[in-house]
Amino acid sequence: MKLLEVNDLKTYFKTSKGYVRAVDGVTFSLDHGECLGLVGESGCGKTTTALSITRLLPKGGEVKGGQIFLEGVDYATLTDKEIEDHRWEDVSIIFQGAMNAFNPVKKVGWQIAEACIRHKGMTKDEAWKRAGELFELVGIPAERVTQYPHEFSGGMKQRAMIAMALACDPKLIIGDEPTTALDVMIQAQILELLEDLRKKLNMGMILITHDLSILGETCDKIAVMYAGRIAEMGTVDDIFNHPAHPYTKALLACFPNIYSNERTVPEGIPGIPPDLIDPPEGCRFCPRCKCAFEACSKETPEFKEISEGHFVSCHLMGKEENHG
Ligand code: SF4
Repeated sequence: MKLLEVNDLKTYFKTSKGYVRAVDGVTFSLDHGECLGLVGESGCGKTTTALSITRLLPKGGEVKGGQIFLEGVDYATLTDKEIEDHRWEDVSIIFQGAMNAFNPVKKVGWQIAEACIRHKGMTKDEAWKRAGELFELVGIPAERVTQYPHEFSGGMKQRAMIAMALACDPKLIIGDEPTTALDVMIQAQILELLEDLRKKLNMGMILITHDLSILGETCDKIAVMYAGRIAEMGTVDDIFNHPAHPYTKALLACFPNIYSNERTVPEGIPGIPPDLIDPPEGCRFCPRCKCAFEACSKETPEFKEISEGHFVSCHLMGKEENHG
């Protein structure tokens, strides 16, 4: 059984102007111990996908369709109370800007211990001991559990956030831009730590980022999102070495190739993502796509498997003549 199955997920936000279709038909799955990278520009639906899985959507957000199964349990049928228990024990999330998420007047270790008491039924002593063990696991000396957040550096706070996310041995951990606001060296250490923990604990992981370049080392597969949908999904090799969707190609061209002998200037992607209250008909990338042709603005492309595990949503797939 798959760890996670997301089928045709649709999550909309109600606004005074209408529904924002933030996630509009997203399908993917994840095995135990596997890491999926979700990548795309800001506002493409990455975080909303994560918040839909954990049912932590902000006010106005609603799952309007589709299914989310975690180890076969249909999350749509769970009550808010049941979801609260599952949230720590089955799935936990490391938020964007989590470094500021600790309560500044409570000891860091206690904030982790509280989760163990609430969700694992531990005694105070057991929970403190567990907090120390989790600190060691993420590379912080256990004796620092009694310190306050202001006594920690940015990188240490992020490690402590990871320790907190691991408190109840979740089967799935979601890192939503977990290295944002950290310097490059610390970023690399945190990604390495997540990678080690995933392997050691056989956890599934979803890593959300707008920076495609950090996913190559960490993930097994990557889903490239655009305007609330997955444009392309495949292995790291598929996405980096055999990209098929014009958006994936354009996204890759935004990064300099440090291995190439040729001097190339990174390209931008002209235009802006569409308004998700009233998205364009057909392919949502059409107004910005260099390869667009007639059908693109009329018909929504199918999410087609072009080789094993490599899915692309583009009318060019299967066409003999490549328009781009
Ligand atoms: Fe471009 Fe058409 Fe493919 Fe969309 S469907 S990415 S517009 S070629």
